[in-house]
Amino acid sequence: MASNHFRVAIIGGGLAGAVLANALARESHIEIHVFESASEFSERGAAVGLGINAEMALNQILPKAAAMLDKAGAVLMNSSRLVLGSGPEAGTLIFDLAESDPGRTVHRASLLRELLAPLPRDALHPNKKLVTIKAHDSGVELTFQDETVHQFEAVIGADGIFSSVRDYVLGGREAAKGHSASPAHFWDCRNVVPFDKAKAILGDEHFKLDRQYSWVGDEAFLMHDVLENRTMVQCVISGIEKDPAMDPKERKCSLTREGLEESLRSWLGGPIADGMINLALDQSDPSRYSQWEHKSTPTYAKQHVCLVGDAAHATTPWQGAGTGLAIEDAMVLAALLAKVSSAEDIESAFRAYDWVRRPRCQQVIDSSRETGRILCGQSGLQADNLRGLLAPRWNFIFGLDMEIHKQDALDKMRKFQQK
Ligand SMILES: Cc1cc2nc3c(=O)[nH]c(=O)nc-3n(C[C@H](O)[C@H](O)[C@H](O)COP(=O)(O)OP(=O)(O)OC[C@H]3O[C@@H](n4cnc5c(N)ncnc54)[C@H](O)[C@@H]3O)c2cc1C
Repeated sequence: MASNHFRVAIIGGGLAGAVLANALARESHIEIHVFESASEFSERGAAVGLGINAEMALNQILPKAAAMLDKAGAVLMNSSRLVLGSGPEAGTLIFDLAESDPGRTVHRASLLRELLAPLPRDALHPNKKLVTIKAHDSGVELTFQDETVHQFEAVIGADGIFSSVRDYVLGGREAAKGHSASPAHFWDCRNVVPFDKAKAILGDEHFKLDRQYSWVGDEAFLMHDVLENRTMVQCVISGIEKDPAMDPKERKCSLTREGLEESLRSWLGGPIADGMINLALDQSDPSRYSQWEHKSTPTYAKQHVCLVGDAAHATTPWQGAGTGLAIEDAMVLAALLAKVSSAEDIESAFRAYDWVRRPRCQQVIDSSRETGRILCGQSGLQADNLRGLLAPRWNFIFGLDMEIHKQDALDKMRKFQQK
């Protein structure tokens, strides 16, 4: 075994864990193992939009990223079109976002399937719920619910918004409480329906081009976009939540026609709301979910343990950026760990990762929350005003220079190593 060889445990096999596993699997001196608590690796939920930054970061990780996205049925969006959905200007175009650098929309389960496909089977461990983490001189000891114990030189928590690795990194469950996920004061419901049905109900005119439509209105927001090689359409209704439950277990509640019509009362009879209500209710167990987020995080790293994806920086979905951030995390960590020549350098790599990633991700979380308020009509419903407010909000997300970002992390790691 080469002297610089080390073993990394990734806790959580969602999109963040799977992307990271792909990025690290390319480094011959790193042996990866992915531990997933569920009995199989799977993704619930509808689709994710991948902005140009997500695709650029993915290109750095996977030599055939575009082919992988095609296999996952990702649909290239001609633009994300923002239109007013309620009020005196209902039906007015606000603007087309990302017309020159279009993003893609992809079904989550299909993306996860394609990310897992190239990974070695003996690196994937379902039914493995992490219970405790203990640091020791040369690394970390992990204990799982099945009472097995494993030793690793490094551990990366990709275990989602209510991460237990996060509790460890932030100094234990009690210390982490002040930085736990909390309600962002929005709710949303999602349904994926056949393309022809969506077209018949919402109108042919919205499906002439593959384009994400976002409807801005009074206290709510509607969106539809095309998925799965143009065979399916994701339909989303979101709104302002005035009294969110403070217990994460109560984030889900049943959706009724009365509830939806009340939330969209000033939208009814307009260009889109009635059809979207019908499509939202056309599923077994229609439900809405409170959106939660991390409002602050003092660090993403502690010695040989760090956090990626929603475990580090859960954000509301208003700027469609969560998965993109997880892909950027993986790109930066892979660049750093590629240069780690002994297990002692892992701590410097994780500190440098924290140093470059935390400000970027917190900026997205804060910007996304504010964008949600604007998209739900909290700054008025005049198209001209909204154009000025919204158009620049994605620039900092899409405009990240991946090479400079990686280089900043590498420079910082070198400085930490010299201290
Ligand atoms: C409604 C909604 C819409 C979104 N839309 C977009 C979008 O359009 N674009 C975008 O870029 N992002 C979007 N996001 C964000 C995006 O979904 C996430 O950022 C992304 O999926 C990364 O998730 P993750 O892998 O970090 O966490 P998760 O998907 O939560 O995965 C965590 C995994 O860890 C496992 N796990 C948990 N605890 C343990 C344990 N103790 N031991 C072992 N395994 C464990 C879980 O079972 C799970 O499989 C959206 C999010 C939401 C909620």
